[in-house]
Amino acid sequence: MIDEEDDEEILKKKRSLKKILKNLVFFGFIVIGVLFMYIGGPDQTLNLVIGFTFICLGTTVIQMKKSPSDPIRQTLTILKCKVCGAIKVRNYESGDFVFKSAGVCDKCNESMEINQIYSVKLKKSKDKEKKLEKDKEKLKQTIEI
Ligand SMILES: [Zn+2]
Repeated sequence: MIDEEDDEEILKKKRSLKKILKNLVFFGFIVIGVLFMYIGGPDQTLNLVIGFTFICLGTTVIQMKKSPSDPIRQTLTILKCKVCGAIKVRNYESGDFVFKSAGVCDKCNESMEINQIYSVKLKKSKDKEKKLEKDKEKLKQTIEI
């Protein structure tokens, strides 16, 4: 049998591996620093300076934080048919503004008007398409109610 792992699990493993690596580097620097301080060369001051530098490096490594990824914003334009009230959601295009007539209704072939423009925050670019579809669905339902 072959074990299959999904992306999520691999990602988690990678993350914890990074954490372990980071801790190793941290302890490595501290140990080197302490060793230099105690059993360094004949120059005690230099030993202290080098030791202190390594300990500082270690603490810097452990304090490094993953920079938060910028949320990706997606702007959507909601079109509404003036005649039958059908709703269409599409990606925002430059020049879109509310009450601008744009496109043709799928149901009755009348011109549609931009009803709303809004932007949604997306977590990951990988899920962008999926999330967008979900948002569109949710939005459609809300409008129809
Ligand atoms: Zn219509």
